[in-house]
Amino acid sequence: MMESPPALALEDVSKRFGRIQAVDHLSLQVEPGHLAGFLGPNGAGKSTTLYMIPRLVRPTNGRISLFGVDIWKDYKKAISSVGITVETPAFYEYLSGRKNLELAARLLDNVFPHEIDEILERIGLAERQHDRVRVYSTGMKQRLGIGRALLGRPRLLILDEPTNGMDPEGTHEVLSFLREKVSNDGLTIFISSHLMSEIEEFCDTVFVINRGHLVASGSVKELLKPHERIVRVTFQGKVPGRDFISRHEQIRNVESVTADTVEITLAQDDSAWLNQCLQQAGFRVSAIAPKQKTLKEFFLSITGLRHAEMSPSIDRASSMQTRSGASQGQASATQAGLRHAEVPLKMDQAPAAHTGDKPYE
Ligand code: ATP
Repeated sequence: MMESPPALALEDVSKRFGRIQAVDHLSLQVEPGHLAGFLGPNGAGKSTTLYMIPRLVRPTNGRISLFGVDIWKDYKKAISSVGITVETPAFYEYLSGRKNLELAARLLDNVFPHEIDEILERIGLAERQHDRVRVYSTGMKQRLGIGRALLGRPRLLILDEPTNGMDPEGTHEVLSFLREKVSNDGLTIFISSHLMSEIEEFCDTVFVINRGHLVASGSVKELLKPHERIVRVTFQGKVPGRDFISRHEQIRNVESVTADTVEITLAQDDSAWLNQCLQQAGFRVSAIAPKQKTLKEFFLSITGLRHAEMSPSIDRASSMQTRSGASQGQASATQAGLRHAEVPLKMDQAPAAHTGDKPYE
């Protein structure tokens, strides 16, 4: 049996803007049926990479294919089963959510009449479908954007920061919805986000880029597998200090976590020995466990950033902010002839206001 091609494959893709190497020999593959996260600090090259998929930015070199079809050889075929949203979705604000979906559906030739009802139900906007988009919250607009990308039943959804501007509840709701689409309908999703905890909770695989390079990739479980040499120990009563290091060759470091908990780095993975050693030294251990890294800690360790240097946008705080350049991205989406993309429905935004942001073809 022939193996199915990856839903998305980037091979040695680079993009240079003058002296800036935004994307540098990037290769990655998103397997069909996966929910894959795309992470990186600010300026890492995530948006540039995503913009190259619908040909809004032309790569300096490399190859991009969707379900095995090269986007530069047969764009129409390649993009035919892909839904894309880049940046904050724009709509005809004076029309209802439903009307916006209907207009977008008219631009496609494969939307069944019942699809709009189903999508409105699934994105939780059925009750508000007749309200003007103008009165929608940011989260509702984000959900409507995802709904629009789902028209025509794409096999791959590419979403740039789909939870931007949403509160934690809305974020959870949207990601659960996307997770369900992957698990139940076999959809493939490639999603860029700054929200580590959400990526950790909902994604199967993750790709981390820094300075345009891929610095880590793989299943979230594998990447976050406990680092067995670091052991987190909780005590009753007195707690060992750093002086404990000098007394035992096998102990490389002791870091205090809370008043009763420390992290001990061992030369070898041997927590049984550590337990015995602590008890012999008169400490009362109440819990001992290998340390489970969070995605945020993993991200910091591989990008070489320290917590203090980390852009606030990597945390939830920035997910509340919207980003500039959205309308230009969408305007270009139509120019690029996107089938399932976020189409520029809001025509009253002057592209001139966004010059200098990203050069589109
Ligand atoms: P963020 O999370 O902040 O959105 P990002 O990972 O999406 O960042 P990009 O927007 O792709 O990063 O930017 C990658 C690099 O390319 C940055 O150094 C950025 O300044 C540069 N860059 C992006 N677009 C342009 C452009 N049109 N002209 C010149 N440089 C650009």
